[in-house]
Amino acid sequence: MSRFWSPIVHDLEPYVPGEQPNLANLVKLNTNENPYGPSPKALEAIESAVNDDLRLYPDPDASKLKKAIADYHQLTVDQVFVGNGSDEVLAHVFHALFQHSSPILFPDISYSFYPVYCQLYRIDYLTVPLNTDFEVITADFDQENGGIIFPNPNAPTGRLVSLSDIEQLLQSNTDSVVVIDEAYIDFGGQSAISLVEHYPNLLVTQTLSKSRSLANLRIGFAVGHRDLIAGLIRVKDSFNSYPMDSLAVEAAVASFEDEGYFKQTCKQVINSREKLITEMAMLGFATLPSAANFIFVKHNKLDATELALRLREQGVIVRHFKQERIKQYLRITVGTESQNQQLLAVLKTLVS
Ligand SMILES: *Cc1c(COP(=O)(O)O)cnc(C)c1O
Repeated sequence: MSRFWSPIVHDLEPYVPGEQPNLANLVKLNTNENPYGPSPKALEAIESAVNDDLRLYPDPDASKLKKAIADYHQLTVDQVFVGNGSDEVLAHVFHALFQHSSPILFPDISYSFYPVYCQLYRIDYLTVPLNTDFEVITADFDQENGGIIFPNPNAPTGRLVSLSDIEQLLQSNTDSVVVIDEAYIDFGGQSAISLVEHYPNLLVTQTLSKSRSLANLRIGFAVGHRDLIAGLIRVKDSFNSYPMDSLAVEAAVASFEDEGYFKQTCKQVINSREKLITEMAMLGFATLPSAANFIFVKHNKLDATELALRLREQGVIVRHFKQERIKQYLRITVGTESQNQQLLAVLKTLVS
């Protein structure tokens, strides 16, 4: 606290990211990072970009990256916005595209950054409860709003909303922007990007942090109608002209060019996820259906806070949220086969 803080800073309750401990040999399953490295082609691209040109400011428009994303998704460059991680893209979305005349809507169990952006940008919000099976019911969003946002698959539940439900929501909600945060879509969902041409109020965000294993480089993007993108660009150019450095741009472009590696590593994560769910069931854990690179689990007897602590003592870190509805759940990132086996080995000792 300081008397020199602005009133907004006084009241802010910042987002708390999962910890990034500096300990070797940890089985780190707490922040949904990809257990496989980035495409080797992305690493080569970074190496070639490390040269004297680093003295220059990067391209303020990151045109090369926007072009790569537009080509990959069969869009035009003016339908693409890029930012320093999708967190930054989302911040600009809250700032640029949500109305203040009515509260915006997001699920009660959802990405915990959303209420923080609301506080930061002074936007009112209402949370819409998930049903008892932790599903997003899109019909429940059919009410007056200044904007709608939810992750699909949802975080931290992993549950997926169908594209047809999203399309119905877009048809009934035409007066405000609907944002689908597809941070995990590549692990089993159908992207709403295919709907962008038909709905001028749809914005889809994605990240290269999870499925493309480039979390450290901070690369996210949004796609939508060119007028929505133009609004985001206005905010970006009023905030930071150069959010994307050239190493990130080159690595991202190379990643989009290496479809084989992308497909293969996503498939490995998906296969390990399904195997892990089966093995967890044998230890007494119920798991929600997941279309993401993590699972959301609850033990039939043991307390989740206790489990998270005991796991940590054994060098396995997972994420536990204290929110009332989900406090008996753990969110566990799908790791490599060997990490998953280490997790299961520790759990076996804890449940017996
Ligand atoms: C990880 C995540 C993000 C942020 O991704 P970055 O691109 O790394 O900033 C956004 N939304 C959800 C739901 C996430 O889980």
